[in-house]
Amino acid sequence: MTSTREGATAVAVEGSNQAPVDIGLAERLFDELRRRTGTNRGITRTSYGLGEQIAHDIVTREARKLGLDISTDAGCNLYLTMKGRDEGPAIFIGSHLDSVPMGGNFDGAAGVLLGLSVISGYVRAGIRPPRDITVMAVRAEESTWFGASYVGSRAAFGLLTEKELDHVKRSSDQVPLGRAIDAAGGNSEMLRAGTPHLNPENIAMFIEPHIEQGPLLVERGIPVGIVTGIRGSFRFREARCIGAYAHSGATPREFRQDAVRAASALVMDLEDAWTTLQQEGADLVVTFGQFSTDPTEAAFSKIAGRLNFSLDVRSQEPETLKRMQAITADAVARVEARYNIRFELGRLTDSTPAKMDEAIVAALTSAAAEQNIEAIAMACGAGHDAAVFAAQGVATGMVFIRNEHGSHNPDEAMEIDDFAEAARIVSALCLDPPLAGAGAG
Ligand SMILES: [Zn+2]
Repeated sequence: MTSTREGATAVAVEGSNQAPVDIGLAERLFDELRRRTGTNRGITRTSYGLGEQIAHDIVTREARKLGLDISTDAGCNLYLTMKGRDEGPAIFIGSHLDSVPMGGNFDGAAGVLLGLSVISGYVRAGIRPPRDITVMAVRAEESTWFGASYVGSRAAFGLLTEKELDHVKRSSDQVPLGRAIDAAGGNSEMLRAGTPHLNPENIAMFIEPHIEQGPLLVERGIPVGIVTGIRGSFRFREARCIGAYAHSGATPREFRQDAVRAASALVMDLEDAWTTLQQEGADLVVTFGQFSTDPTEAAFSKIAGRLNFSLDVRSQEPETLKRMQAITADAVARVEARYNIRFELGRLTDSTPAKMDEAIVAALTSAAAEQNIEAIAMACGAGHDAAVFAAQGVATGMVFIRNEHGSHNPDEAMEIDDFAEAARIVSALCLDPPLAGAGAG
């Protein structure tokens, strides 16, 4: 233990090779977040809504106590900066503070609180890092609210479209995105003009710590994962197959316009394509997560005239996504002709796959090894703000924290000890970042 001037929560520097972190701060803030954004089941932090604002207010208050520079941008993203010794591009540590409805306390918030734990560790240990460290609390990452991916981080780079600002509406109350941003204190006019707040050249690297959303770390018994790449996606959230309702006994096969058989044929066509691409070595996952006839219209003795479904296709490789999009279009046309139905796929949303920076992956890996922290390299299956930074040419890395029961549900279970291990890895990275002309600390 180091001695702390104020004698308050100890800074977790137990051995000479342990980077400083303030885990007490994170524990306290996780508790406060749970208390103040909790609902009868799980927590809800609505994008540009009340819960997200409470979370932003909490971390702003803590940043003030730590003496950090505090600023926001037109998209209401929050930047909390500790000054470094040297001039030069800052190291960003960030994630989002919104959540899905009735979600868990750790998805997103863990990344922001980890950044604050690292900074508070330096402040308490009296260390000034080589470069400015900016903790970024990103707005509106969860696409469940606006049906759009990475709203906050795209806003920061001036990438939101006028169409999105005007026409994309929040699922809970139908408020258009631009108005929700203005109501939260942002400036949709500036976003409309596409003026970027962030310049990739001023960001040395973006590190996003996040709980793992799959089962790998729990299954392998490892506390931390170091991400090598993020899968991108294309999705149709509200697709429909439109045929014609008809009597099941009285309608011969050639006169049927059966939405169930047609949509099922589409599923099997994409299943075959998935098998073929996977055999060729492609990274790919295909999901029809929603697939239902309308219970108010469909019946046991009726041919289904309509079926609603969703399609979610993900890959680490841009060329695989492109191929699957073309395959989907072909399959749709083929099935329409064969079954005499019509597909309305609805709005397409997509995101670009992102490769993590090799130097960062290597530096995180050795930061773990030097502190005797077990960590494995792994791919990331879900979308994250880190993908936006990587697409802007920012050197990007992600650190996964072991978490049971997946995410986007109240049962997320991250252990604070695993969080501490991840924080120590990031803390060590920031003290000796893989940059030309820095890292002498
Ligand atoms: Zn998240």
